[in-house]
Amino acid sequence: MERKALAYEGKAKKLYETEDKSVFLVEYLDQATALNGAKKDAVKGKGQMNNQITALIFEKLADKSIPSHFIKKTSKNEQLIKRVEMIPLEIVVRNVAAGSFSKRLAIKEGTLLPFPITEFYYKEDRLDDPFINEDHVAFLQVATKEEVKKIKELALQVNQALQELFVSIDIRLIDFKIEVGRTETGTILLADEISPDTCRLWDIETNEHLDKDVYRRDLGDLIPVYEEVLQRLEEKGA
Ligand code: UDP
Repeated sequence: MERKALAYEGKAKKLYETEDKSVFLVEYLDQATALNGAKKDAVKGKGQMNNQITALIFEKLADKSIPSHFIKKTSKNEQLIKRVEMIPLEIVVRNVAAGSFSKRLAIKEGTLLPFPITEFYYKEDRLDDPFINEDHVAFLQVATKEEVKKIKELALQVNQALQELFVSIDIRLIDFKIEVGRTETGTILLADEISPDTCRLWDIETNEHLDKDVYRRDLGDLIPVYEEVLQRLEEKGA
């Protein structure tokens, strides 16, 4: 399917229209950003890593009865997706304390949480994506209370499936972020990407960071780390 007009440009992806109104083509870019775009670098090879990892993960989630907007990968750095109305939320699920959770609540990074904790952030660059609660989501008319319930259920299902997948390749899923959209018939569908850009992944043996913290915290080269995740997923991901 040919790519037509540019529909949207994000920090690390470009979205193109196609001849089919209900299908977009996503191009993953060689761009790394952190701190809401304040830290930004070109990283050669990153686009194809995240495109391939996201495609593999969405395929594996579909096998576990969790559908997403993903249709198929069409090249190393492109994939076709179903067009949905994006809900401007970042939904984070945490299994182990890290990042902003550790900072905000003074909980040592690496502390196992007794149950998965779900958080909502309002996706609004002007406001720096603030942390909000379920009442705020309804007040802002971002999603109805009923949709929030469905989104939370979906996030926890994704957590279960991703934990199983990552443990099978000797990786601990610390936390992750998802985004969701509405189909024309109002169904909530998993969207955006799931990759080491959007998950914290620690090696089960060494606790080595296999995710974007390598870039955020200047711990070394990001590409070999993303390659390692892709290789493990391709070789033996359950
Ligand atoms: N995350 C993301 N995009 C964002 C913010 C967070 O994908 O804009 C992911 C991040 O990779 C991590 C999880 O969400 O897996 C929780 O991130 P946290 O709130 O700890 O924020 P951070 O410490 O990354 O600022």
